Amino acid sequence: MRAGLDWQRVQAMAAAERASYIARNPESARLAQEAGRHLLFGVPMHWMSDWSTPFPLTVREASGARFRDADGHAYVDFCLGDTGAMFGHAPQPVAQAIARQSARGYTAMLPSEDAGPVAAELARRFGLPCWQFALSASDANRFVLRWLRAATGRSKVLVFNGCYHGTVDDVFVDLVGGVPAQRDSLLGQVHKLTDHTVVVEFNDLTALEAALAAGDIACVLAEPVMTNVGMVLPQPGFWEAAQQLIRQHGALLVIDETHTISSGPGGYARAHGMQPDALVIGKPISGGIPCAVYGFTEEVARRVEHAKRSAPPGHSGIGTTLSANMFAMAAMRANLEEVMTGEAYQHMFTLAAQLAEGLRDIIARHQLPWCVTQIGARTEFQFTPTAPRNGTEAQAAMDSGLEQAIHLYLLNRGLLITPFHNMLLVCPGTSECDVNRLLQVFGECLLELRS
Ligand code: PMP
Repeated sequence: MRAGLDWQRVQAMAAAERASYIARNPESARLAQEAGRHLLFGVPMHWMSDWSTPFPLTVREASGARFRDADGHAYVDFCLGDTGAMFGHAPQPVAQAIARQSARGYTAMLPSEDAGPVAAELARRFGLPCWQFALSASDANRFVLRWLRAATGRSKVLVFNGCYHGTVDDVFVDLVGGVPAQRDSLLGQVHKLTDHTVVVEFNDLTALEAALAAGDIACVLAEPVMTNVGMVLPQPGFWEAAQQLIRQHGALLVIDETHTISSGPGGYARAHGMQPDALVIGKPISGGIPCAVYGFTEEVARRVEHAKRSAPPGHSGIGTTLSANMFAMAAMRANLEEVMTGEAYQHMFTLAAQLAEGLRDIIARHQLPWCVTQIGARTEFQFTPTAPRNGTEAQAAMDSGLEQAIHLYLLNRGLLITPFHNMLLVCPGTSECDVNRLLQVFGECLLELRS
């Protein structure tokens, strides 16, 4: 038995689903083989070869909550580019803004007329007054760490065990048996990351306080809810106490809302009255066009500006040529003003609650020791009876073999969910009918695994 299931049955189902996938997708197979001749790992970005499928599914077109593959099959998308398309594929206002901008230039390394209104809207929405732009959330996090180390004169960063904040080398440090260690999977990294990165378990205030007490932590970088190791919610009162400790020890709090923007138009921090010193969002902020933003409080902004003005002239190591390009800014303005609306969120919240409740019912009916967690538009099921309290517990509940079998079963029936864990997102274009379809097929999958 594994996760409450007969493992042989899981393997038999996975084998049957792999065979079905191969038979169902001859054109994707052909395209993957052809394209693979000149692509490292056979795909344009190597993560794409890590899905549950025997070969990558080739997407032909995507719109709203749906996409179509090269073999002509239609899918309801609950992965939504792992949040990049959280507001639906090709949202109309963004498509129109891009079309308008397409004849007016893309990049000039100068501000466009959208810069002021976009920054003002970010300030209104997230409650932080000063903003900068990057091309990805990874870049934005890297830049914020740089700025805050420079502004505080402190070298260390504190993260929570099991976190992910993009390809930011500094934060690939885990607790292994309670001891900080560089993540084994990190390739080509030659610096000793544990020298300048401190790691503690999420929800562990005692460990947080002990780490902060050394007085050398520039900032704590955290998702308000951990979303990349399955999902881990903050315990009641955790963030209130953690924020107080961080402040008391002269460190700064950076909240990465790249995934938790699912919690509301102003993210999780705004919805829960948190007061971070800095905030980062990437992925869906421009409707799926590469762009990310980071904001600072007035006080931190002044410290950051002072650090820059006090430094010798030359490269800061912060920023890239195409950051804040005109194209991305036009897309972001349309997305913020017309797509990421309160109304859109209400629709997503209603459907996600139905989805989470439906998953809980099905899991309970099959008496499986699994749990379901939902934050706004984002729902996760995990192979553990009670919600994990930290990265170690969440990691222990992961089972990639089981995940892949379920994901492939769903995919062969026109339903895509997020790989590498069990996350389902709904977008403004998702319908009740889509949610019911997912629940029906998920129920059939469990029935097959249990019978
Ligand atoms: N922050 C968080 C919380 C993320 O989940 C991710 C990506 N999954 C990133 C940052 C990095 O985003 P990107 O890969 O677009 O740089």
